[in-house]
Amino acid sequence: MATYFKKYILVLIGLLGLLSMVTPALAQTCHYSTWSWNVNLKKAVLYRAVRKDYQDLNELEIDKQTGCSVCREDQVEIKLPNLKPFSICRQLAPSVRSTLLELIKQNQAVTEVIGYRVGQTRGKVDEHGNRTGFSNHSFGIALDINPQHNGLYTECFSFGAQCRLLRGGHWRPGKDPLSLTLNGQIVRQLKRIGLKWGGEIKGRQKDFMHFSITGY
Ligand SMILES: [Zn+2]
Repeated sequence: MATYFKKYILVLIGLLGLLSMVTPALAQTCHYSTWSWNVNLKKAVLYRAVRKDYQDLNELEIDKQTGCSVCREDQVEIKLPNLKPFSICRQLAPSVRSTLLELIKQNQAVTEVIGYRVGQTRGKVDEHGNRTGFSNHSFGIALDINPQHNGLYTECFSFGAQCRLLRGGHWRPGKDPLSLTLNGQIVRQLKRIGLKWGGEIKGRQKDFMHFSITGY
C-alpha cells in the first residue's frame, strides 16, 4: 500500500513538473491600455484596457521591423539618476539605457524621457472617424526627450516663424539649454545606436523631442 502511494505521488509530481514547463507558453497573456484619436472630434476617445493571448495579436499590434508589440509584457522599465522611470521595448532597452546613462554622466541636460505610451494616432480611419494604427511609442520603440523644450510642430517643412506648435514646449536651440540640436551630444549619441531624430524628418512636421528607428 505504501509503495503504491509513493508511486502515485511520484507520478503526480512528474505531471505537475511537466505542466509547469508547458503553462508559461500557453498562459502568455498580453495587457495594454489604449485610446484612439478621432479625426472628426479632434480628441482622444475609446479609452480601454485590452487583455488577450499573445497568439491572438493582430498585425497592427506588432511592429514588423523590431518584433516589439503593444503589450506591457514586452516592455522594460528603465530607471536612471534624477529621471522619472520610463519603459521601452526589451530589444531596445540595453542600448537606450547605456546611452542615456552615458549622456547623464557627461552632464548632458536630460530632464524628462517618455518611451512606451500606447495610442492609436495614425493609419487608417474607421467608419466612426477613429484612427486604427498605433504610434511608434505604442510599441516602446520611440523616445521623447525634454518634451517641454522640444515641441512637435506642423506647417514646418523647414523651421521658421510659420511653424505651428502642436504639442510640448517651444524649441529654442541655442537659447534654451534643454532644447536639442543637430550637433549636440544627445542627438549624436542616440543616432549612433540607430535612432533617427524627429527634428530631421522630412515633410510638414518637425518633432524635436522624438527619436525612433524611422524618425516618425
Ligand atoms: Zn514621440
